[in-house]
Amino acid sequence: MTTTPSIAIIGGGWSGCTAARLLLDRGYRVHLYERDQQLGGHSRSEVLGGVVFEPNGPHIFHTSNTAVGEFVQRYGMRRAFEHRVLTEIFLDDEEEPRYLSWPPQVEEMRELPLWGRIEKELANLPETPSTANFQAYSESVMGSTLYDLFVRDYTIKQWGREPAELSADFAPKRLDLRTDGNRRLFRDTWEFYPERGFQEIIERIAEPVPVTVGATLDHTDLDDLAREHAAVVVTAALDDFAGQPDALEWRGIRTVSRYVPLDDPAATLTPGYQVNRPSLRRPYTRTIETKHATGQRIGATVVSEEYPGAPYRHYPVPTVDSRYEKLNVSLQESIRENAPLPVFYCGRLANYVYINQDEAIAQAMACADEVHGFFSAKGAS
Ligand SMILES: Cc1cc2nc3c(=O)[nH]c(=O)nc-3n(C[C@H](O)[C@H](O)[C@H](O)COP(=O)(O)OP(=O)(O)OC[C@H]3O[C@@H](n4cnc5c(N)ncnc54)[C@H](O)[C@@H]3O)c2cc1C
Repeated sequence: MTTTPSIAIIGGGWSGCTAARLLLDRGYRVHLYERDQQLGGHSRSEVLGGVVFEPNGPHIFHTSNTAVGEFVQRYGMRRAFEHRVLTEIFLDDEEEPRYLSWPPQVEEMRELPLWGRIEKELANLPETPSTANFQAYSESVMGSTLYDLFVRDYTIKQWGREPAELSADFAPKRLDLRTDGNRRLFRDTWEFYPERGFQEIIERIAEPVPVTVGATLDHTDLDDLAREHAAVVVTAALDDFAGQPDALEWRGIRTVSRYVPLDDPAATLTPGYQVNRPSLRRPYTRTIETKHATGQRIGATVVSEEYPGAPYRHYPVPTVDSRYEKLNVSLQESIRENAPLPVFYCGRLANYVYINQDEAIAQAMACADEVHGFFSAKGAS
């Protein structure tokens, strides 16, 4: 390299930490600015009274992307895991709920008093699922009875909208009907859950990166950044970053976590790590008991209830006309046009997209390549 450009990275979740580390390893100088007091972003784990738990909902790492799988294993992601999700179902005339697999397994449905109706609906499913909207997709994949039991009320609680108002685009990633008796949710090459959660893996990736925590940056900081840095990678939400906080719609969750002492170190309180609670009898959408995933042996547990409708930037809202995705692209362009230095974007917030952890890492890899390509073309390397 003739010069070593300095790159500012905004945001210290998976995408920011990975981009920072990859650029550092390629010989760039980097500096990472994180709003919170610690790294980890949305996937981070915390500890309450010695019990590892997840303040932002359940996070299971799964990928079939070889580059990503090898990358995380270099930083200690090794503990294999098999994620199974349960759904709490209340049937008319039954006092106690049933706990059934998610996605629904046809074998389990045969045990239900509603099986006759379900069987008829399954026999009449179309060959190709409807893509008209989320409800139409769901009903064409599992029939209306299973849709009513498993999907409808969960979706209304989760998104605050009728399922017919939501796009079908994200449905294939979330909905399925299983006939194979294999209750694992994911079918990827790798699936991990580290004993202490993801915090220490992300911190290990960022270990040699200079970091400033407690630093919330926005578009008004770009002039200052341009004095020290040759480019900036933004992983923050762009409505916030551009000073237009109402430009995009987001759906957020609030997690209420309860610490419960237990006599038996192996004991847990709920039937599984993640239990979906679609019923409108429950104000929350699911419970998470991370102890099931970590396998911790400790005389206590933490159970978290996840409440939808909180004012946080967690999920992009996938409307049928993709209006917010289009607005996000306009925000990306206008920030770039007005910035005194080159701006690159990666991650779930800056790209206004629901992505899993492995996809955030893959985006960061592509972003680091893009930054490197940019400076190579300029002859800086
Ligand atoms: C409820 C829920 C459950 C999920 N479950 C799973 C799962 O089971 N498996 C899975 O693989 N993925 C899951 N995900 C997705 C996973 O959380 C994301 O893929 C991952 O966190 C994306 O990382 P990121 O770096 O892009 O964003 P984030 O983790 O959000 O990181 C962004 C960082 O930027 C910081 N920041 C924001 N604005 C600024 C600013 N202006 N200045 C400075 N810093 C700023 C934030 O504090 C944060 O640290 C889930 C997501 C949600 C919402």
